[in-house]
Amino acid sequence: MNAVAEFDTDAPSFQLPPMVQEIRDMTRRIVRDELMPLEQQYLASDWATYGAAMENLKGVFDKKIVDRLVSISKDTGLWNMTVPEEHGGTGMGLLAQIVVSEELHYCAVPFPMASVPNILYESTGDQIERFLRPVIAGDKTACFAQTEANAGSDPGGMMQTRATRTEGGWLINGTKMWISNAMSSDIIQVQAVTDAEKRQRGGITMFIVEKGAQGLHIEESGIRTWLGSRSAQYVVHFDNVFVPDGNVLGAVGNGFRLGQRWLTIHDRLLRAPQALGRMQRSLDMSVEWSKQRVTFGKPLSERQAIQWRLVDMHVDIEALRALTYAAAARGDRGEDVRNEASLVKFTAGEWGARTLDHAIQIHGAMGEALELPLTVFYRLLRHMQIGGGTTEMQKMLIARQLLK
Ligand SMILES: Cc1cc2nc3c(=O)[nH]c(=O)nc-3n(C[C@H](O)[C@H](O)[C@H](O)COP(=O)(O)OP(=O)(O)OC[C@H]3O[C@@H](n4cnc5c(N)ncnc54)[C@H](O)[C@@H]3O)c2cc1C
Repeated sequence: MNAVAEFDTDAPSFQLPPMVQEIRDMTRRIVRDELMPLEQQYLASDWATYGAAMENLKGVFDKKIVDRLVSISKDTGLWNMTVPEEHGGTGMGLLAQIVVSEELHYCAVPFPMASVPNILYESTGDQIERFLRPVIAGDKTACFAQTEANAGSDPGGMMQTRATRTEGGWLINGTKMWISNAMSSDIIQVQAVTDAEKRQRGGITMFIVEKGAQGLHIEESGIRTWLGSRSAQYVVHFDNVFVPDGNVLGAVGNGFRLGQRWLTIHDRLLRAPQALGRMQRSLDMSVEWSKQRVTFGKPLSERQAIQWRLVDMHVDIEALRALTYAAAARGDRGEDVRNEASLVKFTAGEWGARTLDHAIQIHGAMGEALELPLTVFYRLLRHMQIGGGTTEMQKMLIARQLLK
């Protein structure tokens, strides 16, 4: 038996439940038949790096194409797959979400789905009709405002934005920056200090501020990032912005905990499949390319220097996939996965960027070609080491667990 020939890089490293396999296969077909044929046009646009799926799609494609993707998403149930059943969704677990996301991120073209920040499910009373339902339907969009000029990695300790009590509500003052999609969002979920003594231990509250609120000013940051000219991070000023009591999300003083919950699932655990899809694609492309590209009379694939790069990519993908699926399965069992989320967040960013670096190197000059998705994927995965909590912050959290 030839052990090398028997080795199948597509072999599943984790036995998925049959229903998740079905959803994965359906998503894979959508990616192959609907998204991949659009990729060249998408990459040729200046929308191809960072942003909100719907906005990016509308920026590049005809209404007919966008409507078709939306109706595929709604007809197959993918649109609502992350939405709990009590809000009309299919309430798929984390593992299913991760497997679908991994498939979708094989292609650079985004797929439209309900984009609901999970903390919005804390909505109560009329918040459900005013905010949650329209966001689920895609009629309204939301952004999350935590970071400030001097409060990035340490928002609890350094946050300056304050909310003070006034009749019937709160007055918010302060400035947030690096807020993705703030200009196009209908609602801003903003954290403000409500008790300067307690700060992150019960002194930070989450408010919903609506577009057009008096005293709310949103402006371009003036900072261009390599995520592309359409990358949309804004400075958001709150100048005595009145927020009624009915717009407090969760309990007063509970906003930091809510924010951490959002970050744990949305910005940490669910970033891993975004990396996995892109890493798998870059490996598949590199395998293909190395077999075709001939130098000094032999294909690149016959050179050990290239083979070892392919193997390193493969190992990173398999290891990240195993960590991610295990974390998701534990999350689905109701376990606390904060530690695992930090682990997959930092490995996705670190291993993701180095996997793309190998792919770009194997492709030579073509690795830098904007017609291929590799540089876009590289930038997005390198960004993963910063956005949503840096690699160092994840390591700090994991170390705390190890040493406690
Ligand atoms: C494209 C983009 C989109 C973003 N979108 C949003 C958004 O929508 N909403 C939002 O609220 N924020 C957003 N951010 C902000 C992002 O979350 C912060 O930039 C990130 O948390 C890092 O904060 P910082 O830039 O202030 O870095 P700093 O806190 O200044 O840290 C700088 C470096 O020092 C390291 N460091 C800091 N403290 C320590 C320590 N104690 N030990 C070791 N190393 C340390 C950090 O890891 C980092 O490498 C976005 C940022 C970008 C670039």
